[in-house]
Amino acid sequence: MKRIVFATGNAGKMKEIRMILADIGYEIVSMKEAGIIADIQEDGSTYEENALIKARAVAAKSAGDIVLADDSGLEIDSLGGEPGVYSARYMGEDTSYRVKNANLIERLNGVPDEKRTARFVCAIAAVLPDGRELTTRAAIEGRIGYEEKGSGGFGYDPIFYVPELHKTTAELTGEEKNLVSHRGKALELMKEELKKNEGVDCQ
Ligand code: IMP
Repeated sequence: MKRIVFATGNAGKMKEIRMILADIGYEIVSMKEAGIIADIQEDGSTYEENALIKARAVAAKSAGDIVLADDSGLEIDSLGGEPGVYSARYMGEDTSYRVKNANLIERLNGVPDEKRTARFVCAIAAVLPDGRELTTRAAIEGRIGYEEKGSGGFGYDPIFYVPELHKTTAELTGEEKNLVSHRGKALELMKEELKKNEGVDCQ
């Protein structure tokens, strides 16, 4: 079976990605499972650049596989788009999301509902075995809540409230989140691109 190597070390993301790509007719493996160790410097200034940096670094060490990578972040309008491309590094990589989420809620103290708008953005990059590169991008719009809610998902999910669903993304099941999420939608777009470019056998 042909393989897709996904360039992430984040277990929460990998779980979502496996679910979304389950129907693609390829074996989906993480870079760790593929035995690839790469020290990747994510120093791009856009999600697409960072996703491509990760995908290229892993593609350089894998022969014959499609390599996918994502880069994503949370953009809060009243904070000028912060933490944005720095979402993983916000307050330091090792700081817990309980602390990061509490800090963002604190920074939005006094900001009314209608100005608490935010979005999760995700870019997916692919490097094909012949060296061609593809990117897709999608977003989900929401608002920053007043307290953490829900225990699903990861990262900033407990404070990301989706008004249409009356829930945070941490209150959704994995399947529900994948249907509406930035990553789910960007990966669906990538599946279409792969079908066109690689003849991937999606159902
Ligand atoms: P990167 O894409 O691995 O560089 O990091 C993106 C960071 O954005 C994650 O570590 C989270 O902090 C945040 N993020 C991205 N997508 C999500 C999501 O679906 N839920 C919660 N946080 C997210």
